[in-house]
Amino acid sequence: MRTMKAVQVAQAGGPLELVERNVPEPGVGQVLIKVQACGICHSDMLTKEGLWPGVTYPRVPGHEIAGIIDTVGAGVEGWQKGQRVGVGWHGGHCGRCERCRHGDFILCERGLIPGISYDGGYADYMVAPVEALARIPDDLSDVDAAPLLCAGITTFNALRNSGARPGDLVAILGIGGLGHLGVQFAQKMGFRTVAIARGQDKAALATQLGAQHYIDSKAENIAEALQALGGARVILATVTSGKAMSVALGGLGSDGKLIIIGASEDPVEVPVPQFIMRRNSVQGWPSGTSADSQDTLAFSVLTGVKPMIETFPLTRAAEAYDRMMSGAARFRVVLTAS
Ligand SMILES: [Zn+2]
Ligand SMILES: [Zn+2]
Repeated sequence: MRTMKAVQVAQAGGPLELVERNVPEPGVGQVLIKVQACGICHSDMLTKEGLWPGVTYPRVPGHEIAGIIDTVGAGVEGWQKGQRVGVGWHGGHCGRCERCRHGDFILCERGLIPGISYDGGYADYMVAPVEALARIPDDLSDVDAAPLLCAGITTFNALRNSGARPGDLVAILGIGGLGHLGVQFAQKMGFRTVAIARGQDKAALATQLGAQHYIDSKAENIAEALQALGGARVILATVTSGKAMSVALGGLGSDGKLIIIGASEDPVEVPVPQFIMRRNSVQGWPSGTSADSQDTLAFSVLTGVKPMIETFPLTRAAEAYDRMMSGAARFRVVLTAS
């Protein structure tokens, strides 16, 4: 039996611990992946702190996985050993529920998430079902691909399905792990891109990422500033504060839409008369499927979108996790193979 290094959580609220385990075997319709890089996402907290219902322990977190197919399980067609693949939040679907029957796999009633439903990418190897695989283009490195498989796809897919058209005013609320990718995607999709963050320290970065306008939400009224630019067709909310989202709503123009991808505990308050008279809306957006991931990776190579990352070896996962959760990382933390 081959052994490997893995970083697991033994119980809800417990620490991330480096352990030795047997390399798992792929079952029917699955592949064994040799993990080359795995991004750390804020949602890994759901596993570590036991905030997702039904997580069983010990569990290896990680749903931003870039690797190489090591072994192909029985019944697998179309995927070969040695192929570079990524796995993101969409870690599998049942194919039989009502949503799957409508081809809406990301909303599968029995959907699987790597690192939550089964062991994820904080390890040398992991097993995934083939419907969760995305091809990684040759021109994209593993460490750059990893964050695109959750932070990247979530912003890319929300924007490309937003209804905004080239030339429309699109604002990215919050410049962090999600937002710094959102600004790049918005600009590459041909939107008039506005970056919104607190303070002046991110102004230069926003311009460098491709934003045409920067709004300092500490110094300016977001709603007035967006209205002065003509009103936003889309505001992509990457912040984790419902209050901050509510403040921005006044900046929506005709048919404007607030799209929520930042997880917030507090509610968003909608200004009703404005919403009626400007035909505004609020929508949430849940990442996307493995096929959407593949599109995200391909578009990123095509247009030069890159995540800003800090890398740590797998053996220092606990430190890397704390760095990501502290909010000090610029902007995503990626574990590299041990
Ligand atoms: Zn994530
Ligand atoms: Zn299903």
